[in-house]
Amino acid sequence: MSDCLFCKIIAGEIPSTKIYEDDKIYVFADIAPAAPVHYLFIPKEHIQSAAAVTPENSAVVAHIFEKIAEIAKGDEFKDGFRVVSNCGDAAGQTVKHLHFHLLAGREFTWPAG
Ligand code: AMP
Ligand code: ZN
Repeated sequence: MSDCLFCKIIAGEIPSTKIYEDDKIYVFADIAPAAPVHYLFIPKEHIQSAAAVTPENSAVVAHIFEKIAEIAKGDEFKDGFRVVSNCGDAAGQTVKHLHFHLLAGREFTWPAG
């Protein structure tokens, strides 16, 4: 997707602070952190949102959650963390490339706003 911000970040056309990368996913720091630790996990394949996950492309979602569990073994996550995927305009999805926010380092309220 040539006009997708996150596809451009994956391609290195827009700079980002890389946390982790492999052949399927890219993990980077959110530019406007909503918590002391705020990472974004994205598939390298352009998938529009959680609503566009199918039996054909869902393996990367499992891979992302395995990597979240691995990264969340770090000390900053010991008191708990939150994983969020906003899907669609009403839910606040501003970038239409599937991503999972990993947030930690503060108390989180529930229900989410
Ligand atoms: P959402 O609002 O759920 O679609 O999440 C998009 C996230 O991308 C927001 O938390 C933004 O702060 C973040 N974001 C936007 N542009 C960049 C960028 N260039 N580098 C890193 N994070 C970004
Ligand atoms: Zn994209």
